[in-house]
Amino acid sequence: MTVIQPALQHARAVVPPLAARARSVGGSPLRDILAVTARPEVINFAGGLPAPELFDREGIAAAFRDVLAETPAQALQYATTEGEPILRTGLAARISARGLATDADDLLITTGSQQGLSLLATALLDPGDAVLVEDPCYLAALQAFGFAGARVVAVPGDAHGVDVRALEELVARERPKFFYTVPTFQNPTGRTLPAERRAAVAEVAARCGLWIVEDDPYGELRYEGERVPWIASYPGAEDRTALLGSFSKVMAPGVRLGWLRAPAALRRACVVAKQAADLHTPTVNQLAAARYLTGLDAHVARVRDVYRERRDAMLAGLPGALPEGSTWGRPEGGMFLWARLPQSYDTTALLPKVVQQDVAYVPGAPFYAGEPDPSTLRLCFVTQTPEEIGEGLKRLRKGLRS
Ligand code: PMP
Repeated sequence: MTVIQPALQHARAVVPPLAARARSVGGSPLRDILAVTARPEVINFAGGLPAPELFDREGIAAAFRDVLAETPAQALQYATTEGEPILRTGLAARISARGLATDADDLLITTGSQQGLSLLATALLDPGDAVLVEDPCYLAALQAFGFAGARVVAVPGDAHGVDVRALEELVARERPKFFYTVPTFQNPTGRTLPAERRAAVAEVAARCGLWIVEDDPYGELRYEGERVPWIASYPGAEDRTALLGSFSKVMAPGVRLGWLRAPAALRRACVVAKQAADLHTPTVNQLAAARYLTGLDAHVARVRDVYRERRDAMLAGLPGALPEGSTWGRPEGGMFLWARLPQSYDTTALLPKVVQQDVAYVPGAPFYAGEPDPSTLRLCFVTQTPEEIGEGLKRLRKGLRS
């Protein structure tokens, strides 16, 4: 007689013995919203998705083809945890050319920069440790630190980023393990920390013994203005900063490639954490990316031109779309624009009505580690064409008025 096993989803729900951290950290509140906005008719300003039509399919396909044709045994084999030397050498040259002298051995290749955040959390955080973050802050960083049991403390800031005096006071009061920051074209606000404040943050780091995690997935997407150096390159910060970079916004997020540059002892701890997590980042992706690096600048220049137009289309349409009294930033790069509606508006409560008009944004409240401002919202301006952005903003106007 054949015994038919029930499919797992129909089996009786037995509660698994989850760890406290798994019980305490919820999924991203944005996932549910993104599920609704997956309908094709929705103009989705909510996701943080690079424009898929700009993926360099041919260039990336050629890189993979060449790697598999020329070095198949290496490409398909296990590799070292630190990452493929050819990729680290190429990246070190790029980072050095941007003013931060870097050796291949200073780098650890990660499975997206998100893994860099998890590895740093594993390497640095004990339950109850304080971590300082910007407010609002990148959500999945809050998750990574939450999983390590950290106590996340928000540092106040303004339209240009973190308030350095407040940072220094919180360092004295909270004795944090590190300060996490996205100083360039921040997610979610799009703001960029000016050079003087970066120098001041580095000075606080040196004087108060503060470690910094500097996350920079968007820095190469600059549409205007001058590049601001990494905090890691200012005096005082160089030997106590972990800098994270990513291929997601310049090549494709699907290759899941990022890098971590950190002082030796911290990097070694991250290497051990990565051994336990995934042994190494896929070899074939690393080798293809190493080949792709030579054409990367030309590709990024194309992406920048298209994204600049899209940012401008959104900036042009916003005055007609948002209620009178709203304010918003003008990001010099990146993917996001942050807006504040008049105080009586609650963007979380309004979202279902807005989605009925087939357009979506992300409410600002979940991004706050401190007191949320319910009137804020995040708009991603890179995924749609200028025409679609114009249409989406018309729908947004209707949704916000209904
Ligand atoms: N940091 C920030 C600030 C981000 O916005 C993102 C992506 N949304 C990441 C890290 C993770 O990027 P990835 O893992 O794709 O490199």
